[in-house]
Amino acid sequence: MYSQLYFDYNATTPCAKQVVDVMLPYFHEDFGNPSSSHHPYGWLAKSAVEDASSGIAKHLGVSPSDLIYTSGSTESINMVLKGVCRKYRNKGNHIITTKAEHKAVLDTCAFLDEDGFEVTYLDVDSEGLIQIEQFKAALRPETILVCIMYANNETGVIQPLEEIAVLTHENGSLLFSDTTQALGKVRLDTVLQIVDFACFSGHKVYGPKGIGLTYIKGNEDYSQLPSFIQGGGQQKGQRGGTINTPLIVGFAKAIDLAYENQDSEKKRLENLRDQLEAGLLEIELVVSNSNTAQRLPNTVHVSFPFVDGANLLVALSRQIAVSNGSACNSASVEPSHVLTAMGIERSLAYASLRLSIGRYTSENDIEKAIAIITSAVSKQRENNILWERR
Ligand code: PLP
Repeated sequence: MYSQLYFDYNATTPCAKQVVDVMLPYFHEDFGNPSSSHHPYGWLAKSAVEDASSGIAKHLGVSPSDLIYTSGSTESINMVLKGVCRKYRNKGNHIITTKAEHKAVLDTCAFLDEDGFEVTYLDVDSEGLIQIEQFKAALRPETILVCIMYANNETGVIQPLEEIAVLTHENGSLLFSDTTQALGKVRLDTVLQIVDFACFSGHKVYGPKGIGLTYIKGNEDYSQLPSFIQGGGQQKGQRGGTINTPLIVGFAKAIDLAYENQDSEKKRLENLRDQLEAGLLEIELVVSNSNTAQRLPNTVHVSFPFVDGANLLVALSRQIAVSNGSACNSASVEPSHVLTAMGIERSLAYASLRLSIGRYTSENDIEKAIAIITSAVSKQRENNILWERR
């Protein structure tokens, strides 16, 4: 393990030891294929998957038949967006989303745009929230899908989805919400009652990478969405391919652990987050980009005027793992599209840090992080002539 502090839990989380332990037997001893229906190897694997599914469904307050295993949220997003477009093409060709979605949504929308669908990208305000009036104006008779994330991966902002859900359904459209970052951090029961589709990812909740879920409400007859992966008829034909028993068992255990003490862990994280934010806000001129009443308990997003963001990240990289946007997008030299959608000017958006804490973050880590960042920002500014002349 590195001696570095880890403040990038929204990018990924370590797989919990208990999760690794429950997965191990399914790699070597109980390795059967859940689709092998003629011997105990297969029966055992099938029953492990069924137990995992009913455990997850119980925590989420949904039916096990509403859940389809995928390789992660990116695949689930592709499955829902492309699936809805294909199924309802005759009804309409219009999708509504926001400019602050994860790239998995935005890139899929760009693909659909090229395929003849029309996409409206809603603005967000300075807090990262969409404006209901703008949303109402965007709805059309031919709108087949509304795609609005629940918790933002960069700022932690939570969109109030109730009114959006009512308006979407009154319009005869379907609602998909990217709930990837919310799982395990905030309660989801109500959200899953009002959306038609959602998605989850194992590696964001101390589970393994390479496993995710698509939630399809009312999927009893498994005919809700067309399948994109044919072959073998697994998952009642909705996604072909041998079901990954160890990862599914691990994902279920990870969700169990997250739900075991969700409320007390949420409180603990909120306290640490507030402490971190308060410490960073002591830095001169710092701006917080995460101010909504409803937000994730673990995410802090701040910008430092008069600081070169790229240099700051390099300076911090030996001591603390942080991010300036989503990890999936870190190869990009563009400032975060979420911040620019919020109207934050480019130079300030460049000079930003996302800090996301988690299960293994302690109060001591928070104090160290504040000290490291405060000192790094001040060193960056010492070298900036504009800072002297401000
Ligand atoms: N949606 C959000 C909000 C995310 O934060 C991520 C991961 O960064 C994804 C989708 C993609 O998830 P996965 O890594 O499981 O494909």
